[in-house]
Amino acid sequence: MFKKSGTPTENGKFFAAAKNYKEGKRKPAKIKVYRKIRPGVWVDMGFYNLLDAYKRSEGKREVFKFLLQPTFEGIEEGADYEDLLHNRTIPGEIQREVYERDKGKCVECGSQENLHFDHILPFSKGGSSKTSSNIQLLCAKHNLQKGAKLV
Ligand SMILES: [Zn+2]
Repeated sequence: MFKKSGTPTENGKFFAAAKNYKEGKRKPAKIKVYRKIRPGVWVDMGFYNLLDAYKRSEGKREVFKFLLQPTFEGIEEGADYEDLLHNRTIPGEIQREVYERDKGKCVECGSQENLHFDHILPFSKGGSSKTSSNIQLLCAKHNLQKGAKLV
């Protein structure tokens, strides 16, 4: 949970946030979740609330487990939950289409490392995940830069 310097690791921070939430000391931490779909390529799964965390021993290793719940804050009320869940996830065929169209490279700089599928118009602002024209490939750096501008 802690590095040798005594500062918490990412897992350690998540663990503490989940414990504080369970003890009523804070709201659930919001975590942006990425799913690895092939080496160096990540899909943005949106924001999740961190509800619980525990450690489990697997052989000699201690493994962190986190309980996450999708969060739809910023999305209009009255929308159907399951439909939102489906909409936010970029379907496999769209991922492939975008990957081929952008030639497996960041559209800003041509990097082929740590690529993310980016919603051109953010999902939270009504952008669709179901049309490849709203999805582009960005490297981690450009994905983060864009995120910072939109927040
Ligand atoms: Zn880039």
